[in-house]
Amino acid sequence: MRVAKTIKELQEALGKSKVLIGFVPTMGYLHEGHRALVDAAKAKNQFIVISIFVNPLQFGPNEDLDRYPRDEEGDLAKAREWGVDVVFIPSVEEMYPQSEHMNIQVSSDLTDKLCGKARPGHFDGVATVVMKLSQIVQPDHIYFGMKDAQQVAVIKRMVSDFHLPMQVVTVDTVRESDGLAKSSRNVYLNEAERSQAIILQQALHDVGKLIERQPSNVTWGELVEMARRRIQTAPLAKIDYVDMLTWPDLAHLPQDQQVAQTSGEVILAMAVYFGKTRLIDNQIWKIGHGGE
Ligand code: AMP
Repeated sequence: MRVAKTIKELQEALGKSKVLIGFVPTMGYLHEGHRALVDAAKAKNQFIVISIFVNPLQFGPNEDLDRYPRDEEGDLAKAREWGVDVVFIPSVEEMYPQSEHMNIQVSSDLTDKLCGKARPGHFDGVATVVMKLSQIVQPDHIYFGMKDAQQVAVIKRMVSDFHLPMQVVTVDTVRESDGLAKSSRNVYLNEAERSQAIILQQALHDVGKLIERQPSNVTWGELVEMARRRIQTAPLAKIDYVDMLTWPDLAHLPQDQQVAQTSGEVILAMAVYFGKTRLIDNQIWKIGHGGE
């Protein structure tokens, strides 16, 4: 395995070979969720690149940029064990050599809701760094986890709008044995917060059971309310948002429309604070014709 700290070193490592390149962008502090992306990449590509870069552009002024967990040595050991070919760990100066630079502005229909609404500018920062990284790596396939579903919607739109010559591949959310979605941020949780954090998955599960019956007497508004009430049974949970939208366009579902009157894919997405830690989770269902 090679480690590249500059764009030049990385591009030398990539060489001019004709093998398929799979690319997994991350912010490090690697866990089994990241591993699932690497495994998916290995299944389709001969050369695997992972980037570890805590991108300042996607953090708001009062967010956790300074305390975001980092473990370069541990990450490199994991990447080696997982069979990664190159780990790209650029400095901030390597990625943003000029204080003034161009940015991608994500269209507001994708960002005026969910995490985009709660974290203004976040997805512009994500899209900009993914655009830069993908230009540097030039992968055939780029891998994203469905845990960050809005990120997937944004990146797919960017790839399509800018005709980027790579395919976006998504991987299902990897969870702890009690259902909590794996996240680098889970280390922030104290014991009480950790034990209550499973409420996100439980709310998704409860609403999912109802959705799968495609009821004719339940509206989307009522389902969102049901999810909110379930989350609020955890005393330490502070809801940032709970919303139900169409997938992947992220259009609002009429609150008074019954589940049985809908067809297509829908997403229930949530962000919930436990103390200072903000956790996200979501699930997607197919409704109506072609539904499961
Ligand atoms: P991050 O390092 O948190 O920016 O995540 C890097 C990539 O890993 C993103 O595409 C995430 O969606 C994905 N990811 C993070 N956690 C999980 C998880 N629990 N299951 C699947 N993918 C994940």
